[in-house]
Amino acid sequence: NALPNSMQARDVEYLLHAVTNARRHEERGPIVIERGQGIRVFDDEGREYIEGMAGLWSVAVGFGEKRLADAAYRQLQKLPYYHSFSHKSNEPAILLAERLVGMTPERLRKVFFTNSGSEANDTAIKLVWYFNNARGHHAKKTFIARQGAYHGITIASGSLTGLPTNHRDFDLPIIPVKHVTCPHHYRYADPGESEEAFSTRLADELEATILEAGPETIAAFIGEPLMGAGGVMPPPEGYWQKIQAVCHKYDVLLVIDEVINGFGRLGTPFGCNYYGIDPDVLVLSKQITSSYQPLAAVLISDEIYQGIADNSAKIGTLGHGFTAGAHPVACAVANENLDIIEERGLVENARVVGEHLQRELRRRFADHPLVGEVRGVGLIAAIELVADKAAKRRFDPVGKLGLAVFDAAHEQGVIIRAIGDQIAFCPPLIITEKEVDEMLDRFARAFDQATAGLNPA
Ligand code: PMP
Repeated sequence: NALPNSMQARDVEYLLHAVTNARRHEERGPIVIERGQGIRVFDDEGREYIEGMAGLWSVAVGFGEKRLADAAYRQLQKLPYYHSFSHKSNEPAILLAERLVGMTPERLRKVFFTNSGSEANDTAIKLVWYFNNARGHHAKKTFIARQGAYHGITIASGSLTGLPTNHRDFDLPIIPVKHVTCPHHYRYADPGESEEAFSTRLADELEATILEAGPETIAAFIGEPLMGAGGVMPPPEGYWQKIQAVCHKYDVLLVIDEVINGFGRLGTPFGCNYYGIDPDVLVLSKQITSSYQPLAAVLISDEIYQGIADNSAKIGTLGHGFTAGAHPVACAVANENLDIIEERGLVENARVVGEHLQRELRRRFADHPLVGEVRGVGLIAAIELVADKAAKRRFDPVGKLGLAVFDAAHEQGVIIRAIGDQIAFCPPLIITEKEVDEMLDRFARAFDQATAGLNPA
């Protein structure tokens, strides 16, 4: 019986699910998550799961955090909503903006709030275009992104996304965008190529791409410090230094998407800190409120802001903004959430417990004949399943085993994510070493169950 209770049946009756195969969903129905506490969530049949993915890479401080509920309630009573158009503002948004400017790289001076990461990346695109128009660079429009990267799902941010499944059937990309090689050494380096040499090759490819199109047409390079949703790929040694040098040489702005990396995921406040990146535009979301409220932010350098402001008389009002942008309740929750991250030392926890997670994943799985690579930094990690370890050959079809592992993990009470045959882990930042062990014990049982009987090459 695929639909044992009425909530599941009603879900199938009425909801169209995001990123879900509709026919498969009709057959198996949803897992209805009812409540959460700490690193755990519970479904409507009372089953408990360790949330190994922090929701969707989002929940930093854990589920059931009363301080965030109280912060939302207090703000709902005081001022539940006001817009941010035409010189209107609200206190939680101002305090949050001040705080974000204080904690992010030096050059970033102004904050624009949106409701989602996708909207924030759309906003980043528009602000870069607006700035370039303002300084008379009207042809400087093209973005360069990476194959395999995820930057969102709207028409513009979905165009930046370098995953064919997000383009197929939607006629994307629509904005001018070029996709360069995914910085994943294990998959895309030549045999025997060192990480440094691979980074040099990717920087050369970027330069060739800019020169071929003409630097006067290239607006910006966008990337996550460590690629998250595309499969958890830490960049090769020296990558960001070389990429930044090329961007500077050709006046190509650097947009850094910290929607997943931001607020401690790598054991540093931001991915920019971990890799020594100095962005012109920074995009934040998810852990900014632990996703207790929808909120994202775009930070821009003082230079971009001055360009926009100096020219606002000439090219007019910034014709961009969202009804719920800079939402006071979302901003109040963000401020409380950032207090909790600070007071509980959760960035440091991510570093220390992250080392344990990385060590344990490698100890338990790296030598397995079906595991090609174990990778990650801090509290984000992935293991990549392969049919032939020596040849790094993928399974055919890709994703079938990933899905089997995902399903088995559910049965064992742990929620992970299968990105094709890449199994991702991204637990809440509050997780302890003991809880990591519990999560991996459950996962190991699921892994054994799903791979039993498979004969590695
Ligand atoms: N950028 C990155 C790196 C993301 O991981 C995501 C969401 N997974 C987004 C942007 C888009 O954010 P949202 O889903 O809030 O639109």
